[in-house]
Amino acid sequence: MHKPATQLVHAGKPRTGIRAVNPPLERGSTFLFDTVADLEAGKKARLQPGNVFYGRLGTPNAYEFEDAVSALEGGAYSLSVPSGLAACVLPVLTFARPGDRILVTDTVYDPARGSFSSFFARNGIEVAYFDPRIGAGIKELMTDNTRLVYLESPGSLTFELHDIPAIAQAAHAQGAIVVCDNTYATGFFHQALALGADIVAQAATKYIIGHSDGMLGVVTCKDADTYRAMKEASNWVGHGVAPDIVWMAQRGLRTLPVRLQRHHENGLELARWLEGRSEIARVLHPGLPSHPDHAIWQRDFTGATGLFTVQLDTTDKAQAVKFVEALHLFGLGFSWGGYESLALMADAAEARSATEWSDPRILVRLHAGLEDAGDLIADLEQALDAAFARNGD
Ligand SMILES: *Cc1c(COP(=O)(O)O)cnc(C)c1O
Repeated sequence: MHKPATQLVHAGKPRTGIRAVNPPLERGSTFLFDTVADLEAGKKARLQPGNVFYGRLGTPNAYEFEDAVSALEGGAYSLSVPSGLAACVLPVLTFARPGDRILVTDTVYDPARGSFSSFFARNGIEVAYFDPRIGAGIKELMTDNTRLVYLESPGSLTFELHDIPAIAQAAHAQGAIVVCDNTYATGFFHQALALGADIVAQAATKYIIGHSDGMLGVVTCKDADTYRAMKEASNWVGHGVAPDIVWMAQRGLRTLPVRLQRHHENGLELARWLEGRSEIARVLHPGLPSHPDHAIWQRDFTGATGLFTVQLDTTDKAQAVKFVEALHLFGLGFSWGGYESLALMADAAEARSATEWSDPRILVRLHAGLEDAGDLIADLEQALDAAFARNGD
């Protein structure tokens, strides 16, 4: 078995003859069959992985991309869906029935919380949130109707890590399915399936596409029944992905390891520098020894990517605005995972219900892009100076 970086360069159906290095883009809604028997066989196999039948149910580019993601995550089957959020909700859509209960980490990506608390709760699914650091204590929350446990490690905005093996053991003892959003690290730095998750969901929008120019989600699982059930549900709600987008995502996968390594190095360098600044109250980065879950990071992760949060030593919003607006190399925008650096003011108190975030000092989430780390640090320095300069200093 080759190492992940080798697999990602070579993944995809082998083609023969004189051919392009990367699988070419093939657009298609309708696919033609030579005989009626072939067409009927295609229809019968429409939920099978790799079967080309109708554009919505899978195209050659989608299958090539999905095979590569399965290699990345150490899973058996992957299914692409139109966005990362679609990937987050698909396992719940597939497996939770009215009357079932799902347990969701309190640091879940906020739009997914919206889907769980509004859409699914409205449709008869009981949703309970838990402290991301609950570990084996999740046993206390398991009830007979608990169908699914939803994780995200590290958590959005505040970067708490889960003890996935401990949580998965307790969930599996009750027959619940464990889903983990692995967008932050991808399988390259964090093998959530091997740690005990049954399904990995992720936004390929972020590091996989890597250039902030496409939306795509993907789920990965270990067995054919789970794949078929998710593919059927995905079809029920009419999901389909454009071959163009999965083609871009496949292209992104080829260079994912080198980009992630650079994001990791830049992110850590910025985080260490920021930790030494008096204007910064705290740096929330799981790769720093000061992070409360650093031991889990050392055990379960092989890298940290470029995303982390700093807490400014101020509660003055105007001062925080001054800081982020003074940055030249960090764009102000949502999402992350592209080659560019980003800064976003964030509110951790607003997006949680099972845990408290009472420290009012302002959080800024940073994404370290692929720029030169020294240039990024110089930019942060001038922006901190601009925002925190006091009269007479
Ligand atoms: C961005 C993000 C998503 C959603 O992805 P989209 O493609 O924007 O829908 C899901 N989970 C996490 C952790 C994210 O950061």
